[in-house]
Amino acid sequence: MADKILLLPDNIANQIAAGEVIQRPASAVKELLENAVDAGATEIKLIINDAGKALVQVIDNGSGMSETDARMAFERHATSKIRNIDDLFHIRTMGFRGEALASIAAVAQVELRTRRAEDEVGTCLDIENSMVVNQQPVAAPVGTSISMKNLFFNVPARRNFLKSNPAEMRHIVDEFMRVALAFPAIFFSLHSNGQQLFHLEAGSLKQRIVQLLGNHYNHKLVSVKEETDYLNIQGFVGKPETAKKTRGDQFFFVNNRFIRSAYLNHAVQNAYQELIPADAFPMYVLFIDLDPTQVDVNVHPTKQEIKFEDEKIVYAFVQAAVKHALAQFSITPTLDFDL
Ligand code: ADP
Ligand code: MG
Repeated sequence: MADKILLLPDNIANQIAAGEVIQRPASAVKELLENAVDAGATEIKLIINDAGKALVQVIDNGSGMSETDARMAFERHATSKIRNIDDLFHIRTMGFRGEALASIAAVAQVELRTRRAEDEVGTCLDIENSMVVNQQPVAAPVGTSISMKNLFFNVPARRNFLKSNPAEMRHIVDEFMRVALAFPAIFFSLHSNGQQLFHLEAGSLKQRIVQLLGNHYNHKLVSVKEETDYLNIQGFVGKPETAKKTRGDQFFFVNNRFIRSAYLNHAVQNAYQELIPADAFPMYVLFIDLDPTQVDVNVHPTKQEIKFEDEKIVYAFVQAAVKHALAQFSITPTLDFDL
């Protein structure tokens, strides 16, 4: 009998791999925003049409790409962020897997415009089914604009699986908020169907929290700041009276990456014991910074779940830091300055 194993063509391999990275428009939003942050942008605009089903566009004023890099960026496992296995354990960028653009190009139509400061003209690329169908030089501002159009146009089963526009839009706003909270020094805006939903001037974390999560947190935030040899914790927690009956405004960032952790959430909840009812959820935006060798962010393609080398220590620090902040505040409640 003849041998029967074949290597899949790249575009099919990319389409299969895309399933893990790009599940819905919001996944592309996260990846494109993170790329803009990694490119050193100070201004990032997100434009959405039809809850991202028709268009997700991110425009940044970051580094831009050379013509060759612009084409390379869409290859699978193509990244400028790590070079060897050692780098994988010292990640300081949001990206490193080199999968996002390849995945997006496998399941949507993509238009890229990019220019570096040192180049006189920029590059415009159109990509469909993982293939460049058009390339030309273009006049463009420094930075990058990537448009992802008609997500899953070539995978109808997945397109049908997408939720209603309001539901998909909620996911998009969630991702936008996470990145915007993590980088208050960057200007962000969000437009949906021609309407501006957010316009966030660069500023302090406190300003960003109030802009994003609501004015009712103004004067209701308690600063958390704890530094040790092992890790630093900083951010804000809500005064006890801001605790809600529904889970919501709770954000952990580890080395600036939004993560979900029921375990650490429990640490904060514990710190509020006796200050809020047992069924209420405190507000928090907490940044945990520690040596990248102490966390594994490569547990899951979307990087929302991570593994701490020593989870128990982190738990204890988080709980102590929040307790300490709340105790300080109850001794000198005037600690909450104006914006
Ligand atoms: P990763 O972010 O994991 O490296 P991506 O597929 O998201 O992988 O991007 C591939 C490469 O394309 C990046 O490593 C980077 O060099 C380049 N790139 C992507 N987006 C941008 C951008 N907005 N500005 C500049 N370069 C970018
Ligand atoms: Mg990326």
